[in-house]
Amino acid sequence: MSNSKNLNLSVVVPLYNEAGGLETFNQKLVKTIGSITSSYELIYCDDGSTDNSSALIGRWHKANSRIKLLRLSRNFGKENAMTAGIAAAHGQAVLTLDGDGQHPIELLPLFVDAWNEGAKVVIGIRKSNKDEGWFKHLGSRLFYIVFNKLTTRKLQPGATDFRLIDRAVQEAFLAMPETDRITRGLIDWLG
Ligand code: UDP
Ligand code: MG
Repeated sequence: MSNSKNLNLSVVVPLYNEAGGLETFNQKLVKTIGSITSSYELIYCDDGSTDNSSALIGRWHKANSRIKLLRLSRNFGKENAMTAGIAAAHGQAVLTLDGDGQHPIELLPLFVDAWNEGAKVVIGIRKSNKDEGWFKHLGSRLFYIVFNKLTTRKLQPGATDFRLIDRAVQEAFLAMPETDRITRGLIDWLG
């Protein structure tokens, strides 16, 4: 288990109407991050939710100022919400994960271990998705087949936005001018 007490870690979570499970998610996440480092920031990017996500996060922030809220003026889509969060992050490493509980929080220390060992990009790869119906599964297989035919850069099937990037990668990523972006595609392109 990683213990990097001096690591400045930023954790970025895009959210769109996830208030239902957010309390449980937040508790587990804060506990897990806190077990790795005491100097973290947890940035929730509320992507124009119409539920009470922002109100909840505002309350948590009062009790723990490491929990931060970035509230977008409307729904811009996940890629933009994540980019906004990555831009706001101050850590030596920036970890992104979904706020719907689909990325296993308990694996977070492994990402930091890999960073401690020198990795600049650490990627969560999904082996199977039990919650995913055959239709979405087929859709996502097709997406990768078509995308990889159209482009020279290949996207790794199963690669997720559960990933950690070093500050150097964050800076290179933010210097990219693309506006209609797939975050993980751009990070892969950076090498
Ligand atoms: N999300 C977002 N803006 C959107 C749609 C989704 O910020 O317009 C968030 C969502 O709340 C979740 C993450 O992005 O935390 C992944 O979204 P979703 O679960 O819909 O994607 P999937 O699991 O299908 O890849
Ligand atoms: Mg999801």
